[in-house]
Amino acid sequence: MRVLIGGGSGFVGRELTRLLRDKGHEVTLISRQPGPGRITWKELESRGLPPCDGAVNLAGENVLNPLRWWNESYKKDLFSSRIDTTKALSEAIAASSSPPHSWVLVSGIACYKPSLTAEYTEDSEWMPFDLLSQLVKEWEAAAFLPENAAKTTKQVVIRAGAVLGRDGGAMKQMLLPFWLGLGGTLGSGRQPFPWIHVSDLAGIIARSLEPPANTEAPSPTPQVYNGVAPAITTNHEFTKELGRILRRPTILPVPEFVLSAMLGSERAVILTQGQKVIPLKTLESGYQFMYPDLTLALKQIVGS
Ligand code: NDP
Repeated sequence: MRVLIGGGSGFVGRELTRLLRDKGHEVTLISRQPGPGRITWKELESRGLPPCDGAVNLAGENVLNPLRWWNESYKKDLFSSRIDTTKALSEAIAASSSPPHSWVLVSGIACYKPSLTAEYTEDSEWMPFDLLSQLVKEWEAAAFLPENAAKTTKQVVIRAGAVLGRDGGAMKQMLLPFWLGLGGTLGSGRQPFPWIHVSDLAGIIARSLEPPANTEAPSPTPQVYNGVAPAITTNHEFTKELGRILRRPTILPVPEFVLSAMLGSERAVILTQGQKVIPLKTLESGYQFMYPDLTLALKQIVGS
C-alpha cells in the first residue's frame, strides 16, 4: 500500500512511518520542507494528489509549544496549521481521478466537555464550548469529503488523547522535571487524563488505513474512533505512577493559577481539566491495545 502522511515528520508520524514500512508499505510525507521521500504542501496544491492508497493528516502546530506565548498569532497558527492542511488533503482527494481507499484524520478529544463524572464514547453528542473544541469542530469539518468522493474513499477520524512516547509529545517535556524530583500533580489532580501510547495510536491509524473489508460503498460520514487507552486515569494517578516507576518523589503540586499564568487559561485547560473518554468503537473494531494500562505504557517509555 502507498500511504501519504501530512505532518508525518512529527512525533506520531515517525512512529506511524516505522510501523507502515515494517509492514512493507511505501510512505511519502507531506511537509513544509522539501526533501527525499517528501512532497510539500505547495506541490500538493499545484500538482494534485500523488498516487496513493491511503492518506493521513497529522500536521499541526504543537498546542503545548513551550516556546510560544498564548496570543492571537499563536491561536491563528493552531487553527490554520490544522484546518488548511486538512482541507488541502480532502480537496486533493476529492479532485483525484484515482482517489485513495482510505482517508484518516487524527484530531483531539478536546471536543468533549471536561467533567469529573461524564463518560464520553464516539457516539456522544457535543457542541463547541471553548476555543479548543471549536478548533476540533472546524478541523474535522475540513476533512469531510463531498458525497461523490465519499462513495469511493472511507473517511476516518481518530480523536486522540495525550500521546505518550519517549520521543515527543507531553512525556518529552515531563521527563526531566520528574527525573529531578520536581514532578507533581497539576491543579486538583482529580481531573481525568485520557492518554494513549504512541505505538497504539500508530496501530489504530494503520488499521484505519486498511481497505474496507466488504464490497459495500463506504459510509458518507466519517467513522470516528477515540484514540485513548481503555484505562481511565486521573492526573493524580498518572503523576504518582510516573514517580513510582522513576523512583522519584512527586510532592510538588503545580496550582491551576500558575499553569494559567504560564500557558494562558484557554490552553491550561488541557492540563488542569480532563474528560473520561472511552474507546468504545475502537475496541468494538477489534483493535487490541498493546498498552491498555498505564504501568505497562510508562515502563516501556522510561525503559525500566
Ligand atoms: P507534532 O507536534 O510532532 O507535529 C506534526 C507535524 O506538523 C510536524 O512534524 C510538522 O511537519 C507539522 N507542523 C508543525 N507546525 C506546523 C505549522 N505551523 N504549519 C503546518 N505544519 C506544521 O505533532 P504530533 O505528531 O505530536 O501529533 C500529530 C497530530 O495529532 C497533530 O495534529 C496533533 O494536534 C494531534 N494530536 C496530538 C496529540 C499529542 O499528544 N501529541 C494529542 C491529540 C492530538 P513539517 O515540519 O514536516 O511541516
